[in-house]
Amino acid sequence: MEGYIAAVTKEMFFGEKCLMVWLNGCNFNCQYCNVQDILKTKSYYKTELGNIENIIKKANDVKKIVFTGGEPLFQKAVLRYLLKKAKDNNLKTCIHTNGSKPKALKSLLEDNIIDEVYFDIKCSLENYENITKSATFFITRQQIIKDIKESLCLMKEYEDKINISFVTVIIPGLVYRKEELIKTASLINNIKCRWHIKPFTSHYGIEEANLLEGYMNKESLEEMPFVVKKIKDKYKNIEKPSLFFLKKLKKHIEDKFNNLKVYIEN
Ligand code: SF4
Repeated sequence: MEGYIAAVTKEMFFGEKCLMVWLNGCNFNCQYCNVQDILKTKSYYKTELGNIENIIKKANDVKKIVFTGGEPLFQKAVLRYLLKKAKDNNLKTCIHTNGSKPKALKSLLEDNIIDEVYFDIKCSLENYENITKSATFFITRQQIIKDIKESLCLMKEYEDKINISFVTVIIPGLVYRKEELIKTASLINNIKCRWHIKPFTSHYGIEEANLLEGYMNKESLEEMPFVVKKIKDKYKNIEKPSLFFLKKLKKHIEDKFNNLKVYIEN
């Protein structure tokens, strides 16, 4: 079986060293996305999944595998195949999703092959299109919001069966106002979860140093542009929000929502 896999890395993911599988392709086009070159499906990312399986089998120094991207649920069959292989090898399985594919998410949850979901809750629903630029001729803004809501309901349904984390990137000038964050908090407030607020940084993305040797052949590596161009130019010089600002934001949210625990990722 083949799939479009942009990279495999080993790196820290929310405080834990993990095997990370970066799936190629995404249905969003977030303004600040730091993996711009893996959003569109590209032939040089086509990979025989046996290669990834071999890496999973040898991953003795990590306990968790994270499927990210791009949007991993975009390739549901590939994801199901690799999740099963990871479970067979006793790895804790995690998917990092933008939450726009509730049906695919539901079907994998029903298979009991996902231990953990990291759900990027980008902003308030009224701001979603502005941030994600996801509406197209084929899918409307209203449909995307409906899908996000459906995924949130799914998280509520599974709150006692899997670990759930929401992630919101705090971006100066874009997603940073406390009113915006309060509206975002109200979307997840009734779900048993951790909420990570993460300062935007132009440096995050797929780093060449973290790529696993032996996964890509030399030719593909030379073709891959993502290590060179990760982010749109206008976001390259944005200052990272300060820890002081993030702490104030956290306090403001936690004062308003007693049962919501906010974590600052730096
Ligand atoms: S930030 Fe995530 S959801 Fe948004 S375009 Fe990039 S990969 Fe897709």
